[in-house]
Amino acid sequence: MTEGIRVPFGDLRAQNASLGDDLNAAIARVINSCAYIAGPEVAAFEGEFARYQDSSHCIGVANGTDALEIALQALSLPADSEVIVPANTFIATAEAVTRSGLTVVFADVDDTYTLDLESVRRLITNRTSAIVPVHLYGQAADMDAILGLAAENGLRVIEDCAQAHGAEYRGQRVGSFGDIATFSFYPGKNLGALGDAGAIVTSDDLLAEKCRLIANHGRLTKYDHVIEGRNSRLDTLQAAILQVKLRALPAWTDRRREVARTYRSGLADLPGLVLPTIRAEGLHVFHLFVVRVAERDAFREALLTLGVQTGVHYPEPLPLLPPYRSQHAHGAQGMNAVSWSSQLVSLPIHESLTDPQVTHVVEAIQQTITR
Ligand SMILES: *Cc1c(COP(=O)(O)O)cnc(C)c1O
Repeated sequence: MTEGIRVPFGDLRAQNASLGDDLNAAIARVINSCAYIAGPEVAAFEGEFARYQDSSHCIGVANGTDALEIALQALSLPADSEVIVPANTFIATAEAVTRSGLTVVFADVDDTYTLDLESVRRLITNRTSAIVPVHLYGQAADMDAILGLAAENGLRVIEDCAQAHGAEYRGQRVGSFGDIATFSFYPGKNLGALGDAGAIVTSDDLLAEKCRLIANHGRLTKYDHVIEGRNSRLDTLQAAILQVKLRALPAWTDRRREVARTYRSGLADLPGLVLPTIRAEGLHVFHLFVVRVAERDAFREALLTLGVQTGVHYPEPLPLLPPYRSQHAHGAQGMNAVSWSSQLVSLPIHESLTDPQVTHVVEAIQQTITR
């Protein structure tokens, strides 16, 4: 094994460097335009991103959490109705439901780490109004089954695509299956801004218009406020930056997928290490490469001494976190999301990893497991 190699969990410095002077040029363009709110830079990014995600409309907003809230509000779901979200996701998915005056219901995940259909089916009541599949770690949820259940029960579907830019299901991009979908461009996401940013995509003209109104003070023109909305716009500087990064995204995704292939072959059949289950009908964009090991903390410690940084996504399933546990801990008993949370380890995966770094990760894990 090669000594002295360091493998950082993420490397935004390397990503910036790979873009040469393009980020600075985009920023200078916005500064010189003196148009700092909305404008052509935002419209250009929205058009490019809608096309990239196989959807008719993209509405840029301030961040991925706002995108979820605005999408939920645009759907006008009955007050207090129940919205089913996975128990293993980032808290924003559940926060947006509660902040929209709706009741969050946690469903389990299966070995793809996306919604477990049997769990969702059992949780549907006459108060359920929507399902929020999260394409977690970059892999599409089982959209055929989810759309089927939604149609049978008259439910709306909001896809949380915060980790799945460019991911596909049956050859079609995520975000184009449900009623509406949301994205985050938090800096560490597969497509990340240099700050907070997010977007909503949909092919429903009316929903798109409603989201646009909500995100910009309910107005059509400067003082023509048709409803009360809020201020959650995509920042113009971030829109210019995101145009540059979107052009690089296909190559970055290819590199993530290549690293994942090397991990899958190099780490196959190691005792006690559970590799991610890949859906055959999907295209996984590997926002994260998550494995399971029983002695998780010792495993991470051993890798760190070999120079390999890892992460945990997420250390607690949502139903056991303080804001939810009094209501939801009981229902979470026996969930995969609960029994797996102490075993999850995210290996470094990003576009800037070099071949020697990837080899080093594989060898470091082989050595740690067979030691
Ligand atoms: C990052 C993330 C969000 C929230 O996005 P922000 O831009 O940070 O507000 C929502 N859902 C999931 C699954 C995420 O990973």
